[in-house]
Amino acid sequence: MIRVALAGAAGRMGSTCREAIAGAVDLELVAGIDRAPVAEGSGAAEVPFFSSVSEAIAATHPDVLVDFTVPASVEGNIRTALAAGTDCVVGTTGLSAATLAALEAEIPQGTCLFVAPNFAIGAVLLMQLAARAARWMPDVEIIELHHNLKKDAPSGTAIRTAELIAEARADAGATPLGAPGKESEAPGYEGARGAQAEGITVHSVRLPGLVAHEEVIFGGPGQTLTLRHDSLDRVSFMPGVLAACRAVSERSGLIVGLENLIDL
Ligand code: NAD
Repeated sequence: MIRVALAGAAGRMGSTCREAIAGAVDLELVAGIDRAPVAEGSGAAEVPFFSSVSEAIAATHPDVLVDFTVPASVEGNIRTALAAGTDCVVGTTGLSAATLAALEAEIPQGTCLFVAPNFAIGAVLLMQLAARAARWMPDVEIIELHHNLKKDAPSGTAIRTAELIAEARADAGATPLGAPGKESEAPGYEGARGAQAEGITVHSVRLPGLVAHEEVIFGGPGQTLTLRHDSLDRVSFMPGVLAACRAVSERSGLIVGLENLIDL
């Protein structure tokens, strides 16, 4: 049995994770951690609840900490878990490359810090296909669309997609034809051309009703190619989360991206 502690257990992703872990025969949810109270009748009463990761680890000695909290909390949670030698499976977005590098230096021997910008297999496949397409069609823009309560923009998935595209373009020596940037924005309409991630334009849409969606549009002379992935329900992330909980015990060090943990 893999003993799992879940930070952010009262949140949207946390609630879906609780159900997914309860349905996995080889995983046991030994602790829920949240600052907010869990909803009545949500089934959480069966799980010991704690208000901090340090209390949960001291009381329940989990094998893995799964973190779906908020950008302001995740770094401290990871640091606490790593100090206790607990493997981490992190879905919370907003961790910068500099923060990840600092955390990597704190990983004890034999412990794994796994971070996935996106746990949905379809989104991971989209990123791989986008990297492949960028070798031949280097002009590209990303539109990411999320629910209106998302705390960070652009999404971690969009940043990761941009990194993979930039790497693929550089490897292939593929140079974009280019397009107007911020200098073309009309006065009073600043932001119309989006943000830059690794030299790729990213547009963030936030609307109620959405879950997590991404469109990558490539343009070339006389043709376009559009790749799109839609997470319509948070259950789309669960196979990836469960696979990561199983895999981290066999791995060590910092691993970023589901494609580097399981054979897709
Ligand atoms: P949410 O706001 O519904 O839930 C976050 C929960 O974390 C809240 O209940 C909050 O009280 C709790 N929390 C805050 N600080 C805490 C702390 N120190 N310890 C314990 N709990 C704490 O958010 P959400 O929609 O569930 O998303 C959570 C994170 O997961 C976000 O960063 C989101 O971008 C990310 N996300 C990642 C993926 C992925 O595939 N990697 C998919 C969906 C969402």
